[in-house]
Amino acid sequence: MSLAPITASSLAAALDDSIAGIEAQVIAWRRDLHAHPELGNREFRTAGIVAEHLKSLGFDEVRTGVAHTGVVGLLKGGQPGPVVALRADMDAMPVTEEVDLPFASKAKGEWNGETVGVMHACGHDCHVAILMGVAQVLARHRAQLKGSVKFIFPPAEEMPPAGDDGGARMMVAEGALENPTPRAIFGLHVTSQQATGTLGYRPGPTMASSDKLRIDVHGSQTHGAAPWKGVDPIVTAAQVVLGLQTVVSRTVNLTEEPAVVTIGAIRGGVRENIIPEHVEMRGTIRTFNEQMRDDIHERVTTLAEAIGRGNRATCKVCITKNYPVTVNDPKLTEAMVPTMRRVAGDGLTLVPKVTGSEDFSFFQRVVPGLFVFLGVTEAGRDPKKAAPNHSPRFKVDEAALLLGVRTLAHLACDWLEAEGAAR
Ligand SMILES: [Zn+2]
Ligand SMILES: [Zn+2]
Repeated sequence: MSLAPITASSLAAALDDSIAGIEAQVIAWRRDLHAHPELGNREFRTAGIVAEHLKSLGFDEVRTGVAHTGVVGLLKGGQPGPVVALRADMDAMPVTEEVDLPFASKAKGEWNGETVGVMHACGHDCHVAILMGVAQVLARHRAQLKGSVKFIFPPAEEMPPAGDDGGARMMVAEGALENPTPRAIFGLHVTSQQATGTLGYRPGPTMASSDKLRIDVHGSQTHGAAPWKGVDPIVTAAQVVLGLQTVVSRTVNLTEEPAVVTIGAIRGGVRENIIPEHVEMRGTIRTFNEQMRDDIHERVTTLAEAIGRGNRATCKVCITKNYPVTVNDPKLTEAMVPTMRRVAGDGLTLVPKVTGSEDFSFFQRVVPGLFVFLGVTEAGRDPKKAAPNHSPRFKVDEAALLLGVRTLAHLACDWLEAEGAAR
């Protein structure tokens, strides 16, 4: 892509005037969504609100039911030009809210067979409210838009319920990036680890790939007093846990990218004097490079299998690929820095890599994308001490939301302006 240098257009000033007038509305949307959170693939009410809003703004197209509950809207500008996409995920989490707010969630839901509290503990309520605000503002100024803006609201970013498909991967499979195909995509995530007024970005690999690891260790059950009569899967599992520590520390070139292999659950045995037949281990693998990701998968598998053989047990390794590495296109990122600097001023910061993962990465596999972080911890509080995303105490400073609206609105407009001029 060959972007022309970005300077603030006359449209940019008009956008800011309109954005300043919708803060109360964005906060009201966010509070309503926060009080009515819905789990992945169950975002029926949320998707309905989004679709109605886009239709009321006179969008040229509003597709619903994409990847179960996803919504895709298209706003054609008054002037010819390329297509840019903006994304906001809609799902809440199986978390019981502990924040004392008049609009705190009291919702319950069912998650993998269990009744759970439901909360917007990752702040996706903010993402939806922000993008609804962007839609309103861009629709108001559509006559001056040099191209089209695609609004993508996917479900189930936090993974669909067990057995379900969903999220961005399925949105892509169901054509969210086709007819028309955008040439760039922007998204943001709220984070309590940054202060209100800050915008964090990073070129290149930014968030990790996330893969699920399961190892089934099979031995041969016997009396705990006579281990030689069987094969002990517990000792084998212990060796596997320690053996896996060497995959990152001894075989990954850590000067290139970091990586993580974690075993988070081990289950096996029922009482002290029985060596069980089977131990189940579960873990997660995080990387910032797709080749490294494949290499680590291969090493984890060979090592666990070999440790099993060495103990006369068997280790069956199953690695499920969840989300790819979130890679911010370096050229696109560089081209948009002036825009981000304009909207965030001194609040623009280069942030370190995050070992969490994002399904925005599936969109970035198809079109160049930029994913940024919006600080939501109120002034005067230390973001390092704030409850992180996914905590039942995760708290959003609503004064931060308007910067989110400005960020996405200006990224889209400036990109259209520059990309159109470069052609
Ligand atoms: Zn999350
Ligand atoms: Zn999230």
